[in-house]
Amino acid sequence: MKMQEVFDTYKESIIPSYSKVPLIFVKGKGSYLWDIRGKKYLDFFPGWGVGNLGHCHPKVMSAVRDQISKLIFVPNNYYNLPQAKLSKELAWWTKNEFKAFFCNSGAEANEAAIKLARKFGQGRFEIITFENSFHGRTLAALSATGQSKYQQGFAPLVPGFKTVRFNDPDAVKSTLTDKTVAVMLELIQGEGGINIAQKDFVRGLRKLCDEKKLLLIIDEVQTGIGRTGSMFCWQQFEIVPDVFTLAKSLGGGLPIGCMMAGKEYADLLAPGSHASTFGGGPVICKAALAVLAAVHKEKMLRNAVEMGAYLVGELGALQRKHPVIKEVRALGLMCGVELHKPGKTVVDSCIEKGLLINCTHETVLRIMPALNITQRQVGTAVSILDKALKEVE
Ligand SMILES: *Cc1c(COP(=O)(O)O)cnc(C)c1O
Repeated sequence: MKMQEVFDTYKESIIPSYSKVPLIFVKGKGSYLWDIRGKKYLDFFPGWGVGNLGHCHPKVMSAVRDQISKLIFVPNNYYNLPQAKLSKELAWWTKNEFKAFFCNSGAEANEAAIKLARKFGQGRFEIITFENSFHGRTLAALSATGQSKYQQGFAPLVPGFKTVRFNDPDAVKSTLTDKTVAVMLELIQGEGGINIAQKDFVRGLRKLCDEKKLLLIIDEVQTGIGRTGSMFCWQQFEIVPDVFTLAKSLGGGLPIGCMMAGKEYADLLAPGSHASTFGGGPVICKAALAVLAAVHKEKMLRNAVEMGAYLVGELGALQRKHPVIKEVRALGLMCGVELHKPGKTVVDSCIEKGLLINCTHETVLRIMPALNITQRQVGTAVSILDKALKEVE
């Protein structure tokens, strides 16, 4: 297919629910992508948060090849080896305090968490969520999401969600009722503009949840698997959640979601109470095992911390040079650059110069390179961004 034919086919045959950039990618390796014309791009937003290992990591490729040649799928009424190994590995990362439920996406992982909270509540069903949060597009996850732009046209939403101001402990307390069962949040709001939760706020929530017997549910779909410099972001907040959810980068590019529930609560989902046909299939679990092994063996957590610090330093220098930058916010390699004006033209200019980044919440440039990014690649990206910012001024 030629470029125009691809665009025409999409127009003709694919439901237009995505706003799109007119690029057709055909190859990826590490932090680079090649489009159909052979143009090479440095990808600083790989896979919308999926690409923590970059594109086509060799360990993931060989794990998947190996598994596909043995057994592609068996359902969950049987046992399979990769699922057992993956759950054990995830348990190791959580000091064996959690059990896993496997599904296929972030929204589904959050649905599982919401259903677990309802089981736990025995009649209590209200979940407190936060303004500018994002929890997915399925109806309950969408109802939990604190951004009305995603909800427009889909009323009535699932009842039982109350949205309050982020980082505002009093707003949470004044919203509690005898029906409240859980508090659900991202520690860094990704789609909502890279807003970082305050440590005291999160510790206060932990305390409140203990006192009122509420579940503390942390959505780590975007922050998980090393993005912020620790395997899970909550490890840097000196709390342990009751439930947390993973997806995006856990599969190294293949679809997986996972709800991790504290052992006290995990068995509430008794046989027959929840399911996912594809969840925990052998191929995806083998891929996820390769992801966890690569993060560990290739010292990507350390690199995320070091390269994150380097990137933030460089962006700070850009901020002193470009008054259009309002604020730089980051933890590890999850980085937002808030501008005084819409960021779309900056993103477009970067793309033209061979750098892929994202803009979220209108004015926030989102920069989330692979965890194995090099200092030279960061330098290249920053110099392209420098030029793009100059253009908009
Ligand atoms: C992307 C995202 C989701 C939704 O994940 P899907 O796999 O698209 O369903 C949920 N929560 C957060 C924080 C996300 O970033």
